[in-house]
Amino acid sequence: MTKVKYYYDPDTLSYRKIEPKKSRKYRNIALFMIASALFGLMGMLVLLNTNLLNTPKELALQREVNNFELRFELLNRKMDQMEQVLANIEDRDNNIYRLYFEANPIPEEQRRAGFGGVNRYRELEGFNNSDMIIATTRRMEIIQKEMVIQSKSLDEITKLAAEKEELLAAIPAIQPINNEDLTRMASGYGWRSDPFTKARKMHWGMDFTAPRGTPIYASGDGTVSRADNNASGYGKHVRIEHGYGYMSLYGHLSKYNVKRGQKVKRGDLIGFVGSTGRSEAPHLHYEVWKDGDRINPINFYYGSLTAEEFENMLIYANQENQSLD
Ligand SMILES: [Zn+2]
Repeated sequence: MTKVKYYYDPDTLSYRKIEPKKSRKYRNIALFMIASALFGLMGMLVLLNTNLLNTPKELALQREVNNFELRFELLNRKMDQMEQVLANIEDRDNNIYRLYFEANPIPEEQRRAGFGGVNRYRELEGFNNSDMIIATTRRMEIIQKEMVIQSKSLDEITKLAAEKEELLAAIPAIQPINNEDLTRMASGYGWRSDPFTKARKMHWGMDFTAPRGTPIYASGDGTVSRADNNASGYGKHVRIEHGYGYMSLYGHLSKYNVKRGQKVKRGDLIGFVGSTGRSEAPHLHYEVWKDGDRINPINFYYGSLTAEEFENMLIYANQENQSLD
């Protein structure tokens, strides 16, 4: 039972019953409810902003995801550096190594070619961080492919370098008679008077005068293809095939020191100066052939002469004198 309250009314001089105001009561209840709701909402917001709602396991997982993302970013930065180094190597490869060994540069589109066809990254799709993982994986695979191409190029260059070394050892590069044994460089390559007919005639080699019996040396590595007296004019002569289209010929010998089929090294003694065949006096007639044509031997002494000696040789070789044939 609710208590009934009274108050004294001086106008009527009597006690009157206090009537409870229902509207005010309901308003208070409504205000209380709104305040509670607001307070609750604020509390929810505070809770959501902190991790109080996450279980420790969820928190640990979130930290792991954050860590992975950070690691991926660091990996990508390392890949930046790798790409720079690789670009530098590729540049040197194309512009120095391949150029030096006369190999064509590897075209950019071949080095950077992507992977066509099937979607290689299907199994990486459908996750929150799929984009990041796919981009990183693709970058890594392109770097990997570029490295394979670069590695193959270096293999090729190693092979070319070995061949170049062989080529350099093979091609004629020294004077076939020692300078101190030489009487003189008698006649060069070019138009000269024929010693027998006195007519102007192309002289296809160089003549070195030296006493009979002076040693003659192979001017490059190779195989003796002929050591005989069966070619008109040359008398007893030796031919060495050097490979790469080069051949050297040594004429008018008095004696051979090699046989057909024998392998020789640059500087090996192959025979001795004489005057056999169409020759006016003891001398060595020396020819250099390239791809079946006789070329000027003057360009093939860089291995043995000093600059001064070469200068002198040039002067003698260019004189329009009489050859010894
Ligand atoms: Zn000659």
